[in-house]
Amino acid sequence: MTATLIDGTAIAAKVRAQVATDAAAYFAGTGKKPGLATVLVGDNAGSQSYVKSKRKACAEAGMESFGFELPKTATQEEVESLVARLNADPNVHGILVQLPLPKQVDENKVLLAITPRKDVDAFHPVNVGKLLIGEPDFMPCTPAGIQQLLVRSGNDPDGKHVVVCGRSNIVGKPVAAILVQKAKGANATVTICHTGTKDMAAFTRQADILVVASGRPNTVTADMVKPGVVIIDVGVNRIEDATKKSGFRLVGDVDFDGVKEKAAAITPVPGGVGPMTIAMLLANTAKAAKLAGK
Ligand code: NAP
Repeated sequence: MTATLIDGTAIAAKVRAQVATDAAAYFAGTGKKPGLATVLVGDNAGSQSYVKSKRKACAEAGMESFGFELPKTATQEEVESLVARLNADPNVHGILVQLPLPKQVDENKVLLAITPRKDVDAFHPVNVGKLLIGEPDFMPCTPAGIQQLLVRSGNDPDGKHVVVCGRSNIVGKPVAAILVQKAKGANATVTICHTGTKDMAAFTRQADILVVASGRPNTVTADMVKPGVVIIDVGVNRIEDATKKSGFRLVGDVDFDGVKEKAAAITPVPGGVGPMTIAMLLANTAKAAKLAGK
């Protein structure tokens, strides 16, 4: 068997087209565009490029984006007072504070300062709790994107055994919380593995759907999966590659070449989960505008 590729770029384009339609409907009803405020603190090149692509995606979807930049010496009070201003601004429906923040700024305190109804990253404990009880306003972007990849590629998790490798607060735990719900596009039996799991292969071999978010290349190899498994590879790892001009290439957390002979479907890296993360951020911002009503 050679796996079908789950094309994240194509699926993300469909989500973004739907968001553009929703944004246009919101504009027709209110005379305003859904607005996302981005907060960038410091001059980290990676963060600058992430924020740039998020703002570009907003414009392409007919949404407003407001960019705010603070110096790398910014204090806790300065970041929090900017967040407070954005919380109160009726033209801002979603607030995205790009992480990581400089070390003098407490990230958790900043994320807590964002009002939950504008928390389009869905990291605030109120939104985490709402997700867990099955009543989310917003779902965190990468896990929500994983659910959309599964459903829209014809691999609905309903009734399946999903094994998640990784238990971070931004990927592993929330994706498990989403897929276990008694809800459309979910209703799976979910197992979570991590570094404390003894004999992880015994679990991964039982998976109908495997979501791998360990942050380490080759966490899952061909001998660890059953034939016909559907694999979502969340990992993004740079490895040296002298044949590339940049000197590196991106790989996921799964041994792609090995498992593709056994899997029924798999996401590539890049071009799988990555494009979905931005698409879901746009979807959350459009939803935040709709919930605000004006
Ligand atoms: P993280 O915070 O480093 O968490 C990794 C998790 O994997 C931890 O729970 C860790 O277990 C577990 N783990 C590590 N090695 C393992 C192993 N050999 N077997 C089983 N479990 C193992 O990472 P993250 O933020 O969740 O991100 C995971 C990956 O996804 C990274 O490559 C990241 O770059 C990528 N990512 C991609 C996107 C995207 O948009 N494409 C978004 C977010 C993240 P312990 O808890 O026991 O330490």
